[in-house]
Amino acid sequence: MVHMETWDLIIIGAGAAGLAAGIYGSRSGLKTLILDEKLAGGTTADAPIVENYPGFPFVTGAELADKKVSHAKKTGATIHELETVVSLDLKGEKKIVKTSRAEYEAPAIIIASGAHYREAEVKGEKEFRGRGVSYCGVCDGPFFKGKRVLVIGGGNSACITTLYLSGLAAAVFVVHRRDAFRAENALVKDLESKGNVKVMWNTEVKEIKGDKVVTTAVVSDYQTGAIQELAIDGVFVQIGESPNSQVAKESGVEVEDGGCIKIDIRQHTNIPGVFAAGDVTNYPVRQIGTAVGQGITAALEAYAYIKRPYYRK
Ligand code: NAP
Repeated sequence: MVHMETWDLIIIGAGAAGLAAGIYGSRSGLKTLILDEKLAGGTTADAPIVENYPGFPFVTGAELADKKVSHAKKTGATIHELETVVSLDLKGEKKIVKTSRAEYEAPAIIIASGAHYREAEVKGEKEFRGRGVSYCGVCDGPFFKGKRVLVIGGGNSACITTLYLSGLAAAVFVVHRRDAFRAENALVKDLESKGNVKVMWNTEVKEIKGDKVVTTAVVSDYQTGAIQELAIDGVFVQIGESPNSQVAKESGVEVEDGGCIKIDIRQHTNIPGVFAAGDVTNYPVRQIGTAVGQGITAALEAYAYIKRPYYRK
């Protein structure tokens, strides 16, 4: 028989939202467990540089993520890394979380499982994943020192990744389907100052080609119809993210089209005792700061739900 461990609060996901929830949960006196299928830190750790998190004018994503992990541990939260949640039973008073290793129960859980990088669904993308196609500049950028790379996308992630790669690669091509970025002005200004960056407006990648590794990308211009085959060594896909909500959805948590978990203003889902925070939710702003705020609210609401303090009766 599988041993069942009992906790006050279980948080699924050790990213910005989950760690903030862990800090507040532990400091409220709740015996708090944070589970993550990867290493703790979340996608913050993938950011080359963070320049808009209040109090940190310039910090690497890895450093900011490390600080959050240490802080959560210092407050007493237990973090289990590399432990995947395989199913949830949310029907009863006790919420049951089954993972790849064990079973846990708690009166309240917070789903802060984040999101994964979206694929461009371009011919050759899957074939060359890990052989020139990447979704993370910080993880794979150093392999392309002095080489030619291409970034797909036009948001904050595409701009930040381009800026990071411009310091490593000989040339960076940005393929964006519009004629303007949807990114912070400060990032766009920085990008414009980089001599080795070429932005290709109104274009799309039709195919990624290669032999053992990527060698070219076929790029088409929407306006002129012109097609060119660019010699490149790597492609970084930076076109947004999709929520990691499948397990929650299967256990009855309400999601909207696209899979984001529906929450109210206090991070409650449709199931009592089940809260959600961060990039897995339908909250419209996706920033480290807002994820932290959502995590804090979720933890304080979970506390009120479990302990029923006098001020919330
Ligand atoms: P995003 O803001 O959703 O932008 C995605 C970009 O990729 C858009 O320019 C979009 O084009 C393009 N795109 C989408 N699907 C595409 C496809 N199939 N083919 C080609 N291009 C495609 O995504 P993100 O930049 O990854 O950022 C995700 C969220 O995190 C955003 O809310 C962002 O603000 C936030 N974020 C913030 C920071 C920061 O503040 N420093 C850093 C990173 C991320 P269209 O413009 O035509 O839709």
